[in-house]
Amino acid sequence: MENISPCSPALHSAETRLAATWAGARDGLWDWDLENGAVRYSPRWKELLGYAEGEIPDRPEEWFRRVHPQDIDAFKRALAELAGGAGRIELELRMIHRGGSWRWVLCRGARASGASHVGGSLTDVTALKLSENRLLVETMHDRLTGLPNESLFLDRLALALVRSSRRPAHSVAVLYLDLDRFHTVNDSCGVVAGDELLVEIARRLTGELRLGDTLGRLGGDKFALLLDGVRGAEGAVEHAREIARTLKQPLSLGGHEVFAQGSMGIALARSAADRPEDLLRDAITAMHRAKRDGTSVCEVFDPVMNVQAKERLKLEADLHHALRRGEFVLHYQPIVSLAEGGLSAFEALVRWQHPERGLVRPDLFIPIAEETGLIVPLGSWVLEEACRAMRRLHERFPDCAHVSVAVNLSGRQFEDKELVASVAAALERTTLAPNRLELEMTESVVMAPTHHNAERLHSLRDLGIRLLIDDFGTGYSSLSSLQSFPLDSLKIDRTFVSRMEFDADKREIVRTILSLARTLEMGVVAEGIETAEQLAMLRELGCEHGQGFFFSNALDERAAASWMENPPSWG
Ligand code: C2E
Ligand code: MG
Ligand code: MG
Repeated sequence: MENISPCSPALHSAETRLAATWAGARDGLWDWDLENGAVRYSPRWKELLGYAEGEIPDRPEEWFRRVHPQDIDAFKRALAELAGGAGRIELELRMIHRGGSWRWVLCRGARASGASHVGGSLTDVTALKLSENRLLVETMHDRLTGLPNESLFLDRLALALVRSSRRPAHSVAVLYLDLDRFHTVNDSCGVVAGDELLVEIARRLTGELRLGDTLGRLGGDKFALLLDGVRGAEGAVEHAREIARTLKQPLSLGGHEVFAQGSMGIALARSAADRPEDLLRDAITAMHRAKRDGTSVCEVFDPVMNVQAKERLKLEADLHHALRRGEFVLHYQPIVSLAEGGLSAFEALVRWQHPERGLVRPDLFIPIAEETGLIVPLGSWVLEEACRAMRRLHERFPDCAHVSVAVNLSGRQFEDKELVASVAAALERTTLAPNRLELEMTESVVMAPTHHNAERLHSLRDLGIRLLIDDFGTGYSSLSSLQSFPLDSLKIDRTFVSRMEFDADKREIVRTILSLARTLEMGVVAEGIETAEQLAMLRELGCEHGQGFFFSNALDERAAASWMENPPSWG
């Protein structure tokens, strides 16, 4: 070993070498005097962070304040170990660059035994870190869509199950989706188009995610959705319906319009002890059942299957075929003139002649038809059938040519841009006089805050038909809209008529509606008249028309005809 004295040439050359290393090393260097706390950073150390030599003072705080908050504790611990006698340290830190970005640096340090100095190097490893991350992303994600793959999906599912165990009211569900006939897209439009379809489906499904949900692509045309927090099977089915709707939107692939459709299976976690793989398997089983069945787009897997969700799904599936199979029938409920006692109209009320359940009332299936969009074709059928039946009755009973038919329109039908054309076509095909057709819409439909309401009502009115507000009094009609819309009559909701003979408040509401109608120069029909007392009161209040079990319930066409032939008399 060289004997180095303070002014020996050997020392001089060692210092020079050190100075050269200090200034020229590829890594940043640092040197810390534990006794007085002074620290020195090499020019390269500063340069790594975007600074020139004179720009960072030699103080420990200059380092500390540039370390990422999540890394600072580990860094200080390491320094303390070094000061406490550890031989060397090595750790990765994030440090902020002058430009504001975080850089990953590898910090190495060492202390010679007994020395009061520690020192080491700083290496920029950002590029390496990023490629490591990328690798992680690549092994956990699907390349085409960027969605989590099966292994990441199962990971997330496992986490969600653990979390849900702490929240009893929180259900976790897996929804598995398998596209129908995807291979035909691949075969007929090519693999590129197939990929395009998958990317678009992924995009649409992503749009359906809520905070905490995860969407994964589990290969081919198979996707899985982790629903973190749903209202049981009903809630999950609700999501499935939403997804089916999203998928149904046409998309254009290489100039062709394509409609995607998929079969879905749902599995609900029953306990936190459920294994993610099992839950996924159950969802796949349910999906296969849906596919085999061919009628429903979604099945729920549940050993004690949620009866309601299943019932509803079954009804929905049956409803799909009911129109084609001609299972709907119309019944007609008479509307009479209270003053004169004669028949003034029939309200057409749809019923479903279900092969197993018998006659199903509209309250049970109209909301489903509305949600699935089936109400539009069903409504067109009702409209045309009602007009046709009315024409038949007019021909049979020429004395009753003044009797009109009232048809109910739901919100979805009213929004359909083909509505006016479809009403006009029905009138033309059936040759029913337009002024013998009435359309009933509820307040919520007429008052919905869309721009085209008034326009659409005017177009309908221009056809020569009459417009009624159904169930009046239960919604929130704006008086100015009532005045400006082209409406002919208000139909008082039956909840106000029911028990009005015992309830002064109800009588008062009926009186108010009648006076409002007079002011607006509109007609009034009271629905749900069940007793002679109600009839007497309504007459006294000056109500023009009425409908209800007191007169008749809804009749099939043959019974309606005999009613016309021999109108019963009442008090
Ligand atoms: P709505 O338009 O208010 O029809 C009147 C409902 O009240 C009918 O029930 C009728 O049978 C019932 N009703 C008649 N008189 C009385 C009575 O004195 N007392 C009581 N408690 N009820 C009476 P329905 O046929 O079950 O229809 C229920 C609803 O289904 C209808 O309410 C209507 O909103 C909807 N709906 C029926 N047919 C159609 C249709 O073809 N298209 C659409 N969009 N909706 C329809
Ligand atoms: Mg009605
Ligand atoms: Mg009504």
